[in-house]
Amino acid sequence: MGRKRYTPEDNNESLAVQSLDQFASDKLVQLERISLRRVLAESARDGLYVERGGRKLLSFSCNDYLNLSHHPAVKAAAKAAIEVYGTGAGASRLVTGNHPLLVALEEKLARLKGTEAACVFGSGYLANLGVIATLVGKEDLILIDRLSHACIHAGAQLSGASTLVFDHNDMNHVASLLKANRGAYPHALLITEGVFSMDGDRAPLKALATLCRDQNCWFMIDDAHGLGVVGDGRGSAAAAGCAADIPLHMGTLSKAAGSYGGYLCASKPVIDLVKTRARTFIYSTGLPPASAGAAIAALDIFEQKPELTRLPLSKAQNFTQRLGLPLAQSPIVPLIIGEPEAALAASQLLAEEGFLVTAIRPPTVPQGTARLRIAFSAAHPDAEIERLADVIGTRLGLSSLCPASS
Ligand SMILES: *Cc1c(COP(=O)(O)O)cnc(C)c1O
Repeated sequence: MGRKRYTPEDNNESLAVQSLDQFASDKLVQLERISLRRVLAESARDGLYVERGGRKLLSFSCNDYLNLSHHPAVKAAAKAAIEVYGTGAGASRLVTGNHPLLVALEEKLARLKGTEAACVFGSGYLANLGVIATLVGKEDLILIDRLSHACIHAGAQLSGASTLVFDHNDMNHVASLLKANRGAYPHALLITEGVFSMDGDRAPLKALATLCRDQNCWFMIDDAHGLGVVGDGRGSAAAAGCAADIPLHMGTLSKAAGSYGGYLCASKPVIDLVKTRARTFIYSTGLPPASAGAAIAALDIFEQKPELTRLPLSKAQNFTQRLGLPLAQSPIVPLIIGEPEAALAASQLLAEEGFLVTAIRPPTVPQGTARLRIAFSAAHPDAEIERLADVIGTRLGLSSLCPASS
């Protein structure tokens, strides 16, 4: 098929077919050279503080926005779940892995999101892969925001649908793409994030929902970073007052809920179809009981303590106000730095001051927009937030930073 054929002689010379270890080492050297090699640091984490190289740093890089992964009631629920149901689900849910906690968790999620039903997956990544490829296929059209999470792009690719990427939060662009292309496909699915994971801004959900309704396009929101921290914990769609206009609510239990697992909330027919057809649901083991138990307890806390769910955003807003930045729209505040090495240096400087603010580099974010991503938690002491703002203002030279969402 017009493919180059490698002979054994080629194979001895060609870089492409060197030994596996040589291939991996060379690739790492290339990535190192452009500051894109990634290394895992051990993080002995006790709530807010992280240990790095024997030093205790206050973390502003965690998505556990309410610190629920260390909440006594959430931990107790996980332990109780293990006592009753064991440490693993034991099988795919369609076989014997459908333990009662998963059913209870789905009922709770559906209630929180105001949908008829819900489906829990092993993770948010698995939810997007499974849901997108179940709802659309080769004949269909997908539209996604350019800054959407890697697993949304991966789900679109897996589905085989024609995929159009629209400029970030650009209503004119998405409307013109949809109007020009909608007619050529039986089904169209538009996907965006509620709160953007690396930029912290929010999608224009109301306008998108109206557009989708007018163009007969299915609308799916990934609210991984909205659940638990906006809309009194119910998420971005509730905050925007348009939850009922969005048929597909996807998210994760691994961030503000302090646990693990992904979900889709939708109508009963859609959920029944997903449970029948989504490959990452059918062919993957059910979420472990401890994760389900912890998530149920966390969702209870959202309901019982709306004032707790408001804290991360209000702390982020105090921070942006202190620095004269545009008001935070979520607990995530990006400081765009530009080149990866500069972002790493800024992160290092903050570490010297006792703060862990991880540098985010391409391909997680677009080229030239390496950044510090600051994530605020309900448990961050206000005095430390003020000190962080002051260190950034004086030592990082704020004039050289431009916020992403402006
Ligand atoms: C974290 C994240 C996911 C993946 O969720 P996991 O449960 O961690 O796999 C999906 N979408 C967005 C926007 C995320 O930020």
